[in-house]
Amino acid sequence: MAERASVVIVGGGITGCAIAAELVRRGWRGVRVLERSTVGGQASIAYAGLLGVPGSGATNDPLSEFGAASLARFPAVAADLRERTGIDVELRHTGALLLAFTADEEAALRAALPILRARDAACCWLDQHELRQLEPAVSPLFRGALLLPFEHQVLSPRLVEAFARAAALGGARIEEGVEVTGFDRDGDRVVAVRTRTDRIEAEQVVVAAGAWSGALAAELGVPLPLGPLRGQLVLLHAWDARVRHTLYRGELYLAVKADGTVAVGSTEELAVYDRRPTLEGVRQLVTFAHETVPALGRSVFREALAGLRPWSADGLPVLGRLPGYENAWIASGHARHGILLSPITAEIVADLLEGKAPVLDLAPFDPARFAR
Ligand SMILES: Cc1cc2nc3c(=O)[nH]c(=O)nc-3n(C[C@H](O)[C@H](O)[C@H](O)COP(=O)(O)OP(=O)(O)OC[C@H]3O[C@@H](n4cnc5c(N)ncnc54)[C@H](O)[C@@H]3O)c2cc1C
Repeated sequence: MAERASVVIVGGGITGCAIAAELVRRGWRGVRVLERSTVGGQASIAYAGLLGVPGSGATNDPLSEFGAASLARFPAVAADLRERTGIDVELRHTGALLLAFTADEEAALRAALPILRARDAACCWLDQHELRQLEPAVSPLFRGALLLPFEHQVLSPRLVEAFARAAALGGARIEEGVEVTGFDRDGDRVVAVRTRTDRIEAEQVVVAAGAWSGALAAELGVPLPLGPLRGQLVLLHAWDARVRHTLYRGELYLAVKADGTVAVGSTEELAVYDRRPTLEGVRQLVTFAHETVPALGRSVFREALAGLRPWSADGLPVLGRLPGYENAWIASGHARHGILLSPITAEIVADLLEGKAPVLDLAPFDPARFAR
């Protein structure tokens, strides 16, 4: 006999676990998360756990607004998870410095300053002297930096663990080693999810399968341009790395965690499904780290990692109802910001499942946009 669930969430990454935790918090029963591998496999790689404001930062940039709304929820989410699970997700207010090495980099950062000031009046330009005063370990070769005071960090592996535990304590079933292979539909409804061994009837289905969400949507007859954007990360042990802010130069960053681990990330490699780090990726990251904080030359190499971020053709999340379906939803395409966006994504998906209007305009993230 087929099993029944009120909601089946496909994918036990940070997105799927955050949604499950939010649903049980609201009193939902019969929530199941099906994960073909292990819970949070990708989020663990996002070790830096950077929580900033993505996109241009402008108040009319949908991705920036989405990120800012999620960032604002973190203190309450961290407190709630601690209360429900006892897990401290290590939310820290660090601030960020966007470093300029060349005159062109400085000009580009200065040009962005008015936009960022409209978001947070405390954003400011630091000249070389001020930068050295704030972060003496940063190389004296940098010309200056843009200070973004709002940036936070979280410990991503703990965050996904806390969401998963909160979901399980609230009655959700989180099943590892269960691969979804297809769906049964009846008109505009998905009536069951098929795994390698079972058929699970469901009232609602949420696809939160990261870089593999496109393949599952295709199973439902909805082609979506969603695939992997590989990122590599290097972890170092540095007992004397006195760097408080997250340091960025373009897409590369360096973040010191509470225990002194330095996370150096991250490359962007489109359409690569291979999760093994490469010599070229590691070289790029360690060169950046050493040039940015020369004292890191004495640090001990711990590990190199690679993970697959879910990436959509326009770089924006894919969030909402799957076109042609009444009860099938997708939450994917969070690219470089899936940790940051987990609280707001969970809230919005729960609102959608409950038939409520979401707190933000979802039009820019509508899965149907690619068909238009
Ligand atoms: C190096 C690196 C650094 C990063 N740093 C940050 C950061 O600092 N801040 C930030 O906000 N974000 C960061 N990210 C991005 C973030 O990690 C991702 O956006 C996030 O993990 C995506 O979460 P997800 O749950 O949507 O997808 P995933 O974590 O990929 O989870 C999807 C899950 O679905 C499962 N699955 C797939 N197909 C099936 C199936 N058929 N049946 C069952 N299960 C299935 C997969 O096994 C997987 O576990 C980083 C990413 C990388 C790679």
